[in-house]
Amino acid sequence: MSTVNLTTENDIAFITIDNPPINATSHSVRQGIVDAFDEIEGDSSIKVVILICAGKTFIAGADVSEFGQPPMAPILPDVIKRLEATTKPVIAAIHGHALGGGLEIALGCHYRIAESGAKLGLPEVNLGLIPGAGGTVRLPRLVPVHDAIAMITGGKPVSADKANAIGLIDAIAHGPLRDAAQDFARTIINRPRPLELRRCPPVDAPDDHQWDEIIAGVGKKARGQIAPVIAAQAIRIGIEQDTAAGLVHEREKFVELRDSDQSKALRHIFFAERSVAKLPELDGAAPNPINEVGVIGGGIMGAGIATASLLAGFKATIIERNEEACTHGRATVKKHLSGSLKRGLITQDRFNSLLASLSTSTDYADLGTADLVVEAVFEDMTVKHDVFGKLSKHCKPDAVLASNTSYLDINEIAANCTHPQRVIGLHFFSPAHIMKLLEVVRTDQANATSLATAFAFARKLGKIAVPCGVCDGFIGNRIMSAYRKHCEYMLEDGALPHQIDAAMVEFGFPMGLFAMQDMAGLEISWATRKRLAPFRDPAERYVALGDYLCEMDRFGKKNGLGWYRYDENGKALPDPDVDALVIAESDKKGITRRDFDAKEIISVILDAMRSEGDKILAEGIAMGPDAIDVVMVNGYGFPRHKGGPMFMTQK
Ligand code: NAD
Repeated sequence: MSTVNLTTENDIAFITIDNPPINATSHSVRQGIVDAFDEIEGDSSIKVVILICAGKTFIAGADVSEFGQPPMAPILPDVIKRLEATTKPVIAAIHGHALGGGLEIALGCHYRIAESGAKLGLPEVNLGLIPGAGGTVRLPRLVPVHDAIAMITGGKPVSADKANAIGLIDAIAHGPLRDAAQDFARTIINRPRPLELRRCPPVDAPDDHQWDEIIAGVGKKARGQIAPVIAAQAIRIGIEQDTAAGLVHEREKFVELRDSDQSKALRHIFFAERSVAKLPELDGAAPNPINEVGVIGGGIMGAGIATASLLAGFKATIIERNEEACTHGRATVKKHLSGSLKRGLITQDRFNSLLASLSTSTDYADLGTADLVVEAVFEDMTVKHDVFGKLSKHCKPDAVLASNTSYLDINEIAANCTHPQRVIGLHFFSPAHIMKLLEVVRTDQANATSLATAFAFARKLGKIAVPCGVCDGFIGNRIMSAYRKHCEYMLEDGALPHQIDAAMVEFGFPMGLFAMQDMAGLEISWATRKRLAPFRDPAERYVALGDYLCEMDRFGKKNGLGWYRYDENGKALPDPDVDALVIAESDKKGITRRDFDAKEIISVILDAMRSEGDKILAEGIAMGPDAIDVVMVNGYGFPRHKGGPMFMTQK
């Protein structure tokens, strides 16, 4: 079976691409398209060409198996030049996703029609690249420049509605796509073929000053990632110079970026995210069907988990301690869903039906039909035992019971349950309905069905599920505790909180460790430290600065004072009082302070992450270094374009 098939119906030719699963622009597809156009060109009975795809999607990207191989002719830019130069008008008929090279092919066509559910985008920057087959040159000749810049430098696809509104497509298909494309063909069949996009003027053109602002804005947003800025510059060159020069420049930059460290790092994390949940022991294990989800506790995490469950299409029941807490939990879920409504992610009807799928109760008996329950009550073993005792009593024997605990021993929780083989950990990140990461914790007794059910649940929630073993803090919190300790050592040895934070931000973290602690509030970890104080090894170095802050009622951003002082707009300002406290502590301990530059600060942090990561691997807590990178990038702000701490420090 060929991947490109040419058929004709009267005076219309159909080029059908059939290269499952995503109709990638593999060599056979590229060659097939060129061959089809050679044939079409010689057939005078053909008046219009429709390029359409079989299967679930239009062309949704490049063939990953060709990555790293020498390019094989015909390369995509030449294929697109060939198709756009055809004397007959070509219509791209789009369903599913038109992404990357797929959208570039569609831009080479003279018309575009898409199903209403289609998504169109140029996501190359997500892999550290820019479009390499004319995207930066053709798109701003079809849609307003600011839309082209947003699509190319942001990498996010747009909906068919948006595409229609900005002129990226000519029509939305109502009814079957093939028929709609054929109807559309009839409307243009007698018109002269439109000019190729690369011969058209840009839709609009910013002036020099505007360009400087645009490129500076893209750079700020990219926080150290180079591809978005290079993409914006390529768009500018494609507009300001002639298109031939623009295309040559774009291709050169594409090839250069393909070999860059950032692109290698981004590709590493892209593939790691897609393989990290594949546990060999789950091969062939069938998950239990899930319809109803129970959530114990409607606080910060419980309400977020309930929201995520509703958005994924499950019925959700929150169990709380009293009616007041039930009302509060429901109100929080409603607030989250209102956010989705406001951002246009759900319609009013969907909002209403999602809220109707939520129940709250104080009676555990209402979980009798739940298929999976996530516990998110206070972080206290006695409370957890009490809750899991009730779940053991009231839930179906095969309902999967999960704890969202951050630090407690889930093996101990499981040991007190009936059917402990269905007890696991599902460690969500806050806000749980937004954060993509989910650590799936395998207890010693967990069976394959429970784990398979947990992963199926995670998939439905749209989460990146990372399997991990039971230990204090699992993968992410454990690594964070380790590097936090070393940051605190640096404070006593000579660094100041804002210097460490500045180094982290410059490296690419969205915020530094101390600003983050201020944001979360300092009192929770203070309470934990006080609780654990009697068990602390007296020989281990202990930094008490965080305790001193709390003793001075400096609990972080919410009361205006923490590691920083906050102005009336909530902006963090380095506080001389904190600097003095830090310096006095070094004096008290007899430590001679020394300077730390940003490079050394980052190297201390990376070494701490690496060495804890190695321990986690040696103990079998993480399946491999990729799992650690996925956790740190998706849950702890590690810059994605650096690939994760294990990737960066690989020997
Ligand atoms: P929270 O204090 O906001 O919410 C806890 C809720 O549990 C409260 O609404 C409380 O009324 C309810 N509750 C307590 N005992 C109960 C019982 N016996 N039955 C029913 N409801 C009960 O706490 P949170 O931040 O949502 O944390 C919950 C759990 O999630 C903890 O184990 C925590 O370690 C973990 N966690 C928290 C975060 C975070 O960022 N907050 C992140 C990951 C995991």
